Amino acid sequence: MQNLLCENLAEVRRKIEQAAQKSGRRADEIKLVAVSKTHPAEVLRKAIAAGARIFGENKVQEADRKISEIGLGKVAWHLIGHLQTNKARRAVKLFDMIHTLDSVELAERLERICIEENKTNLSVLVQIDLAGETTKNGVKENDLPNLVAFLQTCKRLKFDGLMIIPPFFDDAERVRPFFKRLRELREEIIPNGELSMGMSHDFETAIEEGATLVRVGTAIFGQRQSVSLESKTD
Ligand SMILES: *Cc1c(COP(=O)(O)O)cnc(C)c1O
Repeated sequence: MQNLLCENLAEVRRKIEQAAQKSGRRADEIKLVAVSKTHPAEVLRKAIAAGARIFGENKVQEADRKISEIGLGKVAWHLIGHLQTNKARRAVKLFDMIHTLDSVELAERLERICIEENKTNLSVLVQIDLAGETTKNGVKENDLPNLVAFLQTCKRLKFDGLMIIPPFFDDAERVRPFFKRLRELREEIIPNGELSMGMSHDFETAIEEGATLVRVGTAIFGQRQSVSLESKTD
């Protein structure tokens, strides 16, 4: 397991480097978020030993358990799943970055909680719903200016960039237009901000289109149990 994990991580890093090179970028502009959802703390420990430094979790409760086992400051913890308002306080305490901010209401709440909890800054990315799929989370392009304007008034929330979860296509080329559009939006809104885009099957395409944070789970840790993946316990 340790060996496989090491090999997987090395392979992902090699592909990141290749994709960076292909697009004339430096590999150190791209941060790897190891998506550890559904995997137990002992697996994360192995990933840390193999050099992983940022972990992505999609559920607050699940992350809470692992973080208490591994330690808050030991690595960086990123929330990549939808944040329910009743979990916001816990999330403020646990995470270094929230990739999934998608409403003014949530931003207001996080800002207020940061003040109450004496957290001086919390890095946030705005999740954009470019596909306009109403079941998906993320802010629609039309509502984006409002949210950005609000974030510019925040003292504790640090607006650091944009994030997207595009519709799933086997063929990464079909995802490319979504990545391109997210990058264009960044140029308009927050030049030099982070672009959180790309997962196991399409992170190389995302890097070619400018990703600065790639969120990779399966390619590092192997297949997840679909039961835990679908679990609605959080
Ligand atoms: C699970 C997840 C990932 C990682 O997906 P893989 O296909 O396993 O790499 C990335 N981003 C988000 C938001 C996720 O929920």
